[in-house]
Amino acid sequence: MNKPNIVILGAGYGGIMTTVKLQKKLGVNDANITLVNKHDYHYQTTWLHENAAGTLHHDRTRLPIKDVVDFSKVNFVQDTVLSIKPDDKKVVLENGELDYDYLVVALGFEAATFGIPGLIENAFTISSINSSRLIREHIDYNFAKYNNEAENKQERLNIVIGGGGFTGIEFAGEIANRVPELCKEYDIDRSKVRIIVVEAAPTVLPGFDPQLVEYAMNALEAKGVEFKVGAMLKECKPDGIVIEKDEKREEIPTNTTVWAAGVRANSIVEESGLEVNRGKVEVQPDLRAPSHQDVFVVGDCALIMNEETGRPYPPTAQIAIQEADVAAHNLSVLIKGGTELETFHFNNQGTVASLGHDDAIGVILGDKKLFGWSASVMKKIIDNRYLLKLGGVGLLLKKGKFNIFSK
Ligand SMILES: Cc1cc2nc3c(=O)[nH]c(=O)nc-3n(C[C@H](O)[C@H](O)[C@H](O)COP(=O)(O)OP(=O)(O)OC[C@H]3O[C@@H](n4cnc5c(N)ncnc54)[C@H](O)[C@@H]3O)c2cc1C
Repeated sequence: MNKPNIVILGAGYGGIMTTVKLQKKLGVNDANITLVNKHDYHYQTTWLHENAAGTLHHDRTRLPIKDVVDFSKVNFVQDTVLSIKPDDKKVVLENGELDYDYLVVALGFEAATFGIPGLIENAFTISSINSSRLIREHIDYNFAKYNNEAENKQERLNIVIGGGGFTGIEFAGEIANRVPELCKEYDIDRSKVRIIVVEAAPTVLPGFDPQLVEYAMNALEAKGVEFKVGAMLKECKPDGIVIEKDEKREEIPTNTTVWAAGVRANSIVEESGLEVNRGKVEVQPDLRAPSHQDVFVVGDCALIMNEETGRPYPPTAQIAIQEADVAAHNLSVLIKGGTELETFHFNNQGTVASLGHDDAIGVILGDKKLFGWSASVMKKIIDNRYLLKLGGVGLLLKKGKFNIFSK
C-alpha cells in the first residue's frame, strides 16, 4: 500500500513544531513526511528585533533544521513555495512540484503596508533573518557615514519606527540600548540621535494594561525614545517621512524607517483558493480548512475566533506552537485511520514585551502584572522554554538566554 504524503510548508514556530511532533508520533512506514522551507535554518521570529538593532547576533536566533528534525524520518526540501493548488493537492515550488495527501500550511506573515505611498520601496521590515540583518547593517552604515561627509546629515541619525505595537516597542527598546554603543563607536554625540515611534492610535501598545503602557513609555523615554501618538504615517521617502497629527503635517528627515505597524498572513494563502477571512484561513476547531479537509493551517496563516471577545486571537508564537501540537496529533490520528480529532483550545500563558534585554512588561497567570527585571526574566524563561520543547536540553544550552543578572 502507498504511504500517504504529508507536506509541511514553512519551518517557523508552527511548521517546525508540527514536524518535530509528527516525527515522534509516526513511524517511517506510516507516512512520508516532507518539510519545505526557504532556508536550511529555523529562526525565532520573536528575537528578530534584537538582530535588527544589533544587540544580538543573528546566529543566536537561527539554528540548522537538521539539528532538530530527523532527516532519516523527514524529507527536507530547501525551496521557496510559489503557490498552493488545493483542488489538485499540489504545491508549486521554485524548483519543482510536490503532491500531497495532507498539507500543513505554516508560511507565517508578511508586512501589511495599507497602501501608504513609498512604504514598500523605502521602509525596512523586521520579518526574517535577512531583513533584520539589513536593518542592522543599514543603521551602522549611516552612523559610519555621518562624520565622513562635508555636511552632516541629520537623516542619517534619525531612526523612525512606524507602529507602537508589540514589535515596534520591542525594537525601540533594543535600538535605544544600542545607540549609546553606536555613538561611542562612530564618535557621535548621543543628543544628536533621535528614535521616534509613530503610532496612529491614541496610545502605544493598544490593548495592553494602561499601567504597563505608562511604565513602558516612561522607561523608553528615559532612554531617549520620542513618541508621536495619534499621528498617521502619510508617506515614506528614501530620506524622510511625512506624518499627520491633528490635521497638521510634519516632515521628519530619516534614512531609516522601520515599519512595524501591521502584519498579514503570507499572501500565498489568499491566492491559493482556500476559503479565507481577512486573508487567513478561519480554521475548524480541528485546525483543518473548512473548504479542504486535507489541509491543516497553523500559525499566522490561521484565524481562530476568541469566543469571549468576538475577535480573532492575535497572531503569536505562543498560539502557533499550541496549534502545532493539535495539528500533529490530528494528522497522526487520520494517518492511523482514526476519526476522533482533537479540538483546539488556546491556553493563554500570558504576554511579555521586552524593552531591551534588561527591562520588560507583561501579564501572566490571567492578570498578574510584571514590570522591569522580573518581566525581563520571565521573557527569557519563555524563550528558553521554547528551545527546550523544540530540541531538549542540548539546544537550550546551545542557544538559550542566560544573561539574567546582567544590566
Ligand atoms: C519582532 C517580533 C517580535 C515578536 N514577539 C513575539 C512574542 O514575544 N511573543 C509571541 O508569542 N509572538 C511574537 N511575535 C509574533 C510571532 O513571531 C509570530 O506570530 C510567529 O512567528 C508565527 O509563527 P508561524 O509559524 O506562523 O510563522 P513564522 O515563525 O514566521 O515562520 C514562517 C516560516 O515560513 C518560511 N517561509 C515563508 N514564506 C515561504 C515560502 N514562500 N517558501 C518557503 N518558506 C517560506 C519562513 O522562512 C519561516 O521559516 C513577534 C513577531 C515579531 C516580528
